[in-house]
This record gives sequence, structure tokens and C-alpha cells, in this order.
Amino acid sequence: MMTVEKMAQEFSTDPHDLVVTVGPAIGKCCYEVDEPVADEFLRLGLDSDKFVERKGGGKYMIDLLEANTQIVMEAGVPRENIIKSDICTRCSSDMIWSHRATGGKRGGMCALIGVKEQ
Ligand SMILES: [Zn+2]
Repeated sequence: MMTVEKMAQEFSTDPHDLVVTVGPAIGKCCYEVDEPVADEFLRLGLDSDKFVERKGGGKYMIDLLEANTQIVMEAGVPRENIIKSDICTRCSSDMIWSHRATGGKRGGMCALIGVKEQ
């Protein structure tokens, strides 16, 4: 996996110059998890109140896009350079694969990354 730190080593990347897109992913509307999974998100040491919502009965809703946004920000990318997808893969499973919507029968997704020549 290419991290921001590795990009700095390989390409002299300044994280402030990066534009990052996060998602699509399952949305907070659909990503309900049990306490052990929520605990992993709470242990990230980030502003978890913004991406872990307690529902009661040992259930939590997780905002993966916000969690990943905060992880990217920890690497030095400004929030204004991070674009979050507004597509929930489960709600839009007619258009994009969703593990939860299909019960585990899923396809693949791909992402592209590029370096702008100066
Ligand atoms: Zn949804």
C-alpha cells in the first residue's frame, strides 16, 4: 500500500499538495456494527465522536468516510483537499458492489492514482 510517507520518500510529495478522494463505501446510514468492531474504531485515537454513533443494544453506526478522512488528515492532508463520496454502496447496490447488500457475493472495484508532472 502506498502511504503518504512512502509518497514523500518516492516522489518528494508534500501532503499539503495532495487531493484525496475517499469512498465510495458503505455509508453511516447502513454500516451497523457490534461493539468489538466499534471498539477498533474507538481505538484509532482520532475524533471518533464524529464517526462512531452508539445506537444502544450493543449496536453502533460507523461513518467509514469520516474515519478515513481523519486518517488521511493525520498524515498531513488538509481537510479541504479531501473529497468524500456521497455514494453509499449498500443503498446504491444496483450501481456499485456492496458486500452487505449481496450477502458476500461481490465484485471488484478499482482506483486510479496519478502524479501530475510539473
Ligand atoms: Zn446506505
